[in-house]
Amino acid sequence: MITKLVKSDPGCPDRAVMKEAGDIITKGGLVAFPTETVYGLGGDALNPESSKKIYAAKGRPSDNPLIVHIADMEHLPAICESVPENMIKLAEVFWPGPLTMIVKKSDLVPKETTGGLDTVAIRMPDHATALEFIRAAGGYIAAPSANTSGRPSPTLASHVKDDLDGRIEMIIDGGEVGIGVESTIVDLSEGTPTILRPGYVTREMLERVLGDVDVDRTILSGNSTQAPKAPGMKYRHYAPHGEMTIVEGDSEEVVRVINENVAAAKASGRKTAVLCTDETKPFIKADVIKSAGSRADEHEIARHLYRILREFDDEKADVIFSESFSADGFGQAVMNRLLKAAGFNVKKI
Ligand code: AMP
Ligand code: MG
Repeated sequence: MITKLVKSDPGCPDRAVMKEAGDIITKGGLVAFPTETVYGLGGDALNPESSKKIYAAKGRPSDNPLIVHIADMEHLPAICESVPENMIKLAEVFWPGPLTMIVKKSDLVPKETTGGLDTVAIRMPDHATALEFIRAAGGYIAAPSANTSGRPSPTLASHVKDDLDGRIEMIIDGGEVGIGVESTIVDLSEGTPTILRPGYVTREMLERVLGDVDVDRTILSGNSTQAPKAPGMKYRHYAPHGEMTIVEGDSEEVVRVINENVAAAKASGRKTAVLCTDETKPFIKADVIKSAGSRADEHEIARHLYRILREFDDEKADVIFSESFSADGFGQAVMNRLLKAAGFNVKKI
């Protein structure tokens, strides 16, 4: 298959391109598209064959459910068993936006899309191209991130091409995404609302609307005994090929320990890479050194994180060290992705 690459001004999508992309979806094909979080790999959420194709293109285990993307509230009731009050409240504040809500599904949504579950994850992205594409495709787009399973999520169309060229019909290039990590996922299907994946919308923001919100304990801990509720959480994720270690502690000490470990790895003939910040970069010594931005700006760090992890792969880094970041607020989402990329391999000093 030849993958067609088309550009779309993210704020002002081209109607002819959207129509062409929508037609691919209604015929059962796949289109990668930009959103405000990361690029998505879209198929018709109501067509079980399309969902099967998504799993095959990504090499994703089929018990890892997909998120259903909608563009208009009027499309919501048809895919939910019922629309809970909490969902309406959150939608009013956070949709369109980087928040995915899990509720009981209706019969319209095939189990192929939900990884066999009787719940469905739903989101309305805050991105003009994504919304127009969803409408042109009939209203319901199933989409995981548009990367090969296990690799860092794509924040540029070129990342999608690297992973999926020849496996899908079209890639819509809308430039670099704005947020850079996947949506917050909150489970509203039973009991206290629970965050299953942290993202731009934080616990504090959700609690202002809902009152008490729980956070799944597997988010920042690799050895929790709690069974993951979001099936995707059990898989290794976002990971570069090199062996990655996060070094946590006082900033000056972190630099010293990273440099020491880099020197040892180099001595054994391995290519070294370091993920650091603007503040520490001048003091780091390694084969490949990349700053994700200023420590003071977690949004900038989030936006650059996956691109840098992919660049470490391009550079064929064998060993990767990263400094650690605050896990408060949106920082929790950044640290969650970093910890997963490192397989929870943390050196505390
Ligand atoms: P991705 O699309 O790659 O960002 O991954 C989608 C994430 O949403 C995965 O981690 C899934 O486990 C999670 N997810 C989707 N649907 C559900 C659901 N019904 N229940 C729990 N988690 C879900
Ligand atoms: Mg993903």
